[in-house]
Amino acid sequence: MVQKAGIWLGLLLLCWPVNVFSWGFFAHQRINRLAVFTLPPEMIGFYKKHIIYISENAVNPDKRRYAVKAEGPRHFIDLDVYGDSVRHKLPRVWQEAVAQYGEDSLAKHGVLPWHLSLVKYQLTEAFKYHDVPSILRLSADLGHYLADACVPLHTTRNYNGQFTNQHGIHGFWESRLPELLANEYDFFVGPALYVAKPQQKAWGIVFRSHAALDSVLRFEQEVAAQLPEDKKYTFEERNNITVKTYSKAYTTGYHQKLKGQVERQMRYAVWVIGSFWYTCWVDAGQPDLNNLQPLTEEQKQQLAAERQQLKQAVAPDRPHETE
Ligand SMILES: [Zn+2]
Repeated sequence: MVQKAGIWLGLLLLCWPVNVFSWGFFAHQRINRLAVFTLPPEMIGFYKKHIIYISENAVNPDKRRYAVKAEGPRHFIDLDVYGDSVRHKLPRVWQEAVAQYGEDSLAKHGVLPWHLSLVKYQLTEAFKYHDVPSILRLSADLGHYLADACVPLHTTRNYNGQFTNQHGIHGFWESRLPELLANEYDFFVGPALYVAKPQQKAWGIVFRSHAALDSVLRFEQEVAAQLPEDKKYTFEERNNITVKTYSKAYTTGYHQKLKGQVERQMRYAVWVIGSFWYTCWVDAGQPDLNNLQPLTEEQKQQLAAERQQLKQAVAPDRPHETE
């Protein structure tokens, strides 16, 4: 009976709608954590001190979707709905985009690159005002959104392969591959660099991801065609529940065909997050992070309470890999 329930839960996991996906709990935490090590000496001490917060809260924006209606569209942009000339057509400035398409339509197809610019601005302000709780919150959030922008399937309306008969590919690419293989990835990405044009960079990141989409879809089809159906999936125990998941053979076959694309994008996410944090700090006038007021007891409790609230906001009837 337990086994059966587990299988159903596993099937649920595979058929899960994309709006609860993004990199997965494991990868988001790992990416935010690794980004800390790209930072220059003036920043790394502060970030290391708060590395647990920065990594543990890497998935807050995903949890927030259940509590805040506007949150969902911040995690993706369906570039393909705008046609072939999307690169030239889409206004990079939010107000211009609203004037051209209207807020509802933009929300429907995702607002990720515009939102990146907003959070970049907010984090710069937090540095300017030496506002430690906001620096922490916004660093964790910015890391999340930047990491999402590095996922090709976050740039298409075919986000879960639903139009190409590849249902489940979203979690396969961004959760299963890193979960099985990230220990073999090389995460030495070099130091964070100053981003001279963060708004353009945010768009550059999503266009780079979108350019990789063709291989994401094509190679999955190829590797699926080579494997008999019963070799594609396996059952694993997680928290005493049996879940149906992608087999090691299927996963490594895909990884090899992609020639390490997930690793490449994950490395890029780490570097780009460090670079955005660094840029916010520079743009704020390079405040001395070693002399910031430590968090007060009240602020600590406030941050903990926020996390708790988000936990409760997760719809209890849906399986969620963030907890
Ligand atoms: Zn997300």
